[in-house]
Amino acid sequence: MKKIVLIVCVLTTVTVFAQKGNDAAKFASTITQKDLKEQLSIIASAEFEGRETATEGQKKAAAYIESQFKKFGLLPGNGNSYQQVYPVYQDELKSASLKIYNANFAFNNHFSLMLNNAINGNVNINEVVFVSYGISDKERDDYKGIDVKGKWVLIIESDPADIDKDSLSSNFRKTFTKIGTATSKGAAGILIISRQFENTKRFMPPSIGNMYMKKQGGNNSSAPIISVSYQAASSILTKPINKYADLKNISIGKYATQLNIDVHKTTKTLESSNVVGIIEGTDKKEEYVVLTAHYDHLGKRDDGTIYYGADDDGSGTVTIIEMAEAFAKAKQKGYAPRRTIVFMTVSGEEKGLWGSDYYTQHPIYPLNKTSVNLNTDMIGRIDPKYKGDSLNYIYSIGEDKLSSDLMPISDSINQTFKIEIDRKFNDLKDPNRFYYRSDHFNFAKNGVPIIFYFNGVHKDYHRPSDTIEKINFDVMEKRARFIFTTAWVMANRNDMLKRDIPLVIPER
Ligand SMILES: [Zn+2]
Repeated sequence: MKKIVLIVCVLTTVTVFAQKGNDAAKFASTITQKDLKEQLSIIASAEFEGRETATEGQKKAAAYIESQFKKFGLLPGNGNSYQQVYPVYQDELKSASLKIYNANFAFNNHFSLMLNNAINGNVNINEVVFVSYGISDKERDDYKGIDVKGKWVLIIESDPADIDKDSLSSNFRKTFTKIGTATSKGAAGILIISRQFENTKRFMPPSIGNMYMKKQGGNNSSAPIISVSYQAASSILTKPINKYADLKNISIGKYATQLNIDVHKTTKTLESSNVVGIIEGTDKKEEYVVLTAHYDHLGKRDDGTIYYGADDDGSGTVTIIEMAEAFAKAKQKGYAPRRTIVFMTVSGEEKGLWGSDYYTQHPIYPLNKTSVNLNTDMIGRIDPKYKGDSLNYIYSIGEDKLSSDLMPISDSINQTFKIEIDRKFNDLKDPNRFYYRSDHFNFAKNGVPIIFYFNGVHKDYHRPSDTIEKINFDVMEKRARFIFTTAWVMANRNDMLKRDIPLVIPER
C-alpha cells in the first residue's frame, strides 16, 4: 500500500511539472549561447576594468545591468531605484610616530601598522605583557597564569621552531592565529615583533588601506596591531636584544615601559551597490524568489593588469540578465510568475560577501517571505577534475540543507534536463567549504533555503586570465536554462519552500 501511494505521488509530481514544464521550456529556450556571449562580452570587457567594488568599473557595470533590467521592463527593485547603495570605507595614513623612552623609531624602518584597525590619535603605554610566541593551544600555552585583559601584549612573530632560521618570511596564517588569540583574551592592543624590518627589500605597505564595511551592531574596534623591530622591542623591554633569536631568552611577564604612539589617519566613505529589478507576481506577489549573482570582481592593478572575471562571476551576472529577459517575455505573453521574482546582482562579494550581507541586514523584501535564493557563481567553465560527462554537469550546493523541498524539485526538473547534478560539495567535511563562500550564505544564515550553482575552480580562478574566450557557452546555456526552470517552478508552486532542516556550520 505504502509503495503504491508513493508511486502515485511521484507520478503526480511529474505530470504537474510536465505541464508547467512545457511553458517553462518555451521561455528557457530564449536563453541562448549567443545572447549569453553577447552580454558577457560587455560585462567582462576591459571597459569595466575588472569591476572592483566601489570603483568606476563597478559603477559602469551597475549602470549597464540597470539599463538591461529597464529595457526588459523590470520594475525598480528598491523603491523607485534599481540600485541598493551601501557605504564602504577606506583609511588613509597621514602620519605615524613611535617614541620609546626618549628615542624616536622611524616608521617603516622600525615599526608599521595595520591601518584599518590602527588607533587614530595619541596613546601612552606604561606597561606591556610579553607573552613570548603568544601561542595558546593544546601543546603550549604562553598565556598560562597571565591575565592580559585591557593590556598591550608583545608577541614574537614566528614559531619556536623557526626563530633560529635565516628565513625572513613571516607566516601570515600563524600571525593571524596569534592576533585572534590575543584579541579573544581581551588584549587592548597587540605589538608584534617582526622580522620584516631586517629585510631591506621588503614590501612597503601603501598608505591607503584596504576597503572595509562597518558591521551593523558591531563596534569595529578590534585591538590595534603594530609591528615592531627587535631593536624597538629591546627598548620597550629594556633588555639587550642583539639579534632576533635573542628574544627566546626573554621571560614571559609584565614589563614597565614608556611608549608613545601617535597616528593620524583619515577615513573616506565610498559607495557600492546591488542592482535590483523585479517582476511582480500575481496571486502570491507578497512572496519572493530571489535570484543572485555577484557582478564585482578583483579590478585593475596599478600596472594596468585587468582581472576580467569572465567566469567569476561574469557568467552568473549574465545568467541573471538573461533570466530576467526570459521571465519578462513570459509575463508579456501572459505567463506572469505567481511569486515576485527579485533579480539581484550584488557587489562586494570578493571583499567578503558585502553586498549580500548588506541586503540581508537591510532586506528590501522580507526574508521570511523569501521562499528561496538561487545563487549562481561561476557556471561558464569546466572543472578539469570533474569525473563524469564534463559537457553536461553542474555542482549544486545546499540542496540538503534548510529545506527538504529543494532536492525533489531539482530532481523532478532534471527528468527532462538530464544534466549530471553533482552534490559532492554538500559534504560537511569538504575542505573547500563552498557552501560558506558565496552570497547565498548570507541568505542561508538568515534561514532562507538556497541552492548555489557552480562549475568548480580552474587554473584561471582569480587570475587575469579568467577571460571570455575560455567560457564554454554550450554547457553554460544548459546550466542557465536549468536554473531558470528551477526558479520558474519555485515561483509558481502552491507553497513556499518549507524550512524543516536546521543549518549546521562545521568548525574549521
Ligand atoms: Zn565568485
